[in-house]
Amino acid sequence: MALYEKLRTQKGGVGAAALHQRRCTGCQLGIDAAELSVIKKAPSDEVIRCEECSRILVRTSESGL
Ligand SMILES: [Zn+2]
Repeated sequence: MALYEKLRTQKGGVGAAALHQRRCTGCQLGIDAAELSVIKKAPSDEVIRCEECSRILVRTSESGL
């Protein structure tokens, strides 16, 4: 419940960030290889979140996947 509230609070700011060149453009942190492979396998309609800043990661052709 606490986590849910935290995510809701953060949504007041920037809720989503593009995944660009294997980096989250929200926090500029590189996504590690293990996480990238999970993202790669996830269906396109599945919501992926950055582990660091909790923003929703938007996959593009420039994501580096
Ligand atoms: Zn991030």
